[in-house]
Parts: sequence; structure tokens; C-alpha cells
Amino acid sequence: MKEPPKPPVTGGCQCGAIRYAFDAPLQNSHACHCRMCQRATGGIFAALVGTRKADFNWICGTPAFFASSDLATRAFCEKCGTPLGFCYNKQDGFQYVTIGSLDDPATAPITHQYGVESKLPWVSFCEDMPQDKTGEDVDAEVDVQKMKVNQSQP
Ligand SMILES: [Zn+2]
Ligand SMILES: [Zn+2]
Repeated sequence: MKEPPKPPVTGGCQCGAIRYAFDAPLQNSHACHCRMCQRATGGIFAALVGTRKADFNWICGTPAFFASSDLATRAFCEKCGTPLGFCYNKQDGFQYVTIGSLDDPATAPITHQYGVESKLPWVSFCEDMPQDKTGEDVDAEVDVQKMKVNQSQP
């Protein structure tokens, strides 16, 4: 007997104007401590999880986008300001969303930490997970060494 299809993984912003869905299991749940992610989320790190872009859709509303560098784009809700997404601009890359915007964030336990060169000295969690500095991840989708950053302050 065929298994019934699993419901898609869904999430959205605080006001409900923007909703998204993944048609595939979430991958690479991670915290990124880099200064870009700190500024973009207003948080002390970004918590992100995603899938291949082909398995992701905005299903309600259209988010606003900020090109935080010439390599990457960050989606957010124009109405309520919730940081929603992060992706590199390449077609076959990953679309990430903020774990806190998932309808069920408990389903995406963090398995990796990135950007640890900017990790705040008093932040301590997931210490047993693998850690990479920005630009040192051997499996990275893009080479960030030459990227043009669109962030006004470090
Ligand atoms: Zn909203
Ligand atoms: Zn980052």
C-alpha cells in the first residue's frame, strides 16, 4: 500500500501576509553568527534551515527582498518586518528560512554553526556541533571571499 503524502513543511511571518511551503524534508539546519546575519535578523545569530529551491514556494503574498551582498538575497515581510529567508542567487542553490518562522520550529534542530568568527563571547549553545568560520566551509555553495557586501556598518 502506498503511504499517504506527508503534509508540506510550512511557515510564515508574524502578521500572516507571507506564507511559504517546502515539498521536501528540511536540510542543513544551522546557526550563522556572522555580522551580516546578526544585522539582518536583529538577533544575536540567524537560525536557518532549507531545501533546494525547486522544493520551495512562497504560497501566500510576496515577500520583499534585500540584496545583502552581490551573492545573496534576504526575504522579509514588508508589512510586519519578520526576517523570512536567505538564499544565494544561484539557480540550483538552497532556499533557507528562519527557523523561528516555521509553523513547527521544533522539527529543525540545529546541526551546524557558521560564521563563528563573529560569535558573541557570551553565546553558548550547540557547542558539540561542527563549526566553520565565514569562507572556511569546504562545502559552501559560493566563494564569499570576493563578495561585495551591502551592509553599511561592520
Ligand atoms: Zn508579515
Ligand atoms: Zn551569516
